[in-house]
Amino acid sequence: MEQIEQLMDKRNEEKSDVVVGELKAAREKLDGHYREFVDSYNFYCSFFGDSLSSKPMNIVEIGDPQFVMCQSLRDMIIFGHYFYDVYMMIPDFSWIPHEMAHQWWGNGIFFEHRDYALGESLTEYIKLQYLKSRGRGYEEQIEYYKAMMERAEKSLPIADIHSVESQDESIAIYHAAPYRLTLEGSTSAGTILQQLYRNHKHTIVSRDTFLQECKALQDWLLSE
Ligand SMILES: [Zn+2]
Repeated sequence: MEQIEQLMDKRNEEKSDVVVGELKAAREKLDGHYREFVDSYNFYCSFFGDSLSSKPMNIVEIGDPQFVMCQSLRDMIIFGHYFYDVYMMIPDFSWIPHEMAHQWWGNGIFFEHRDYALGESLTEYIKLQYLKSRGRGYEEQIEYYKAMMERAEKSLPIADIHSVESQDESIAIYHAAPYRLTLEGSTSAGTILQQLYRNHKHTIVSRDTFLQECKALQDWLLSE
């Protein structure tokens, strides 16, 4: 918003076509940023066949410049201005659809704390389905996973990751796991996850339940 206000002031001073053009471009980016929330929300509604909550979603930008996080809470996504800047620089970075997917996967359905990595990996996998459906950013995301995986020094099975404290673990979670699931060409993974959601929403899913209901994903969960 600050950028737009500055441009407004500038426009009042100069009234040049260039400034009007800049203003228009800034407005379009701002609209694009908020459209990402709406579009991903609508996609997941139809993916899971569930609009999640009767309450409206709250999108909250935290004013404190020290707040450099984004977080999905029940019916609410909060983010620091830093993430707005990230979107402006790299619109395909796709943190918004990741956080939005957590409304269903992480808030709508929970995993046991030790399976935090499993929840994050599947959130990324679900996000990939959104990128694929909107026809932008999917190939780039896959390329990005590949590049990051090649840089990782060790790989761990998702089943063995219990926290996200080290870089290696983060790499395994956000890059290797959804990438492998996509590579396996498991077209049924989406269907399996939709079913798991329907059967267990608003509950905590244990690893045993996951293994039982998602047998087809067992090898994926245990492989490095
Ligand atoms: Zn996440």
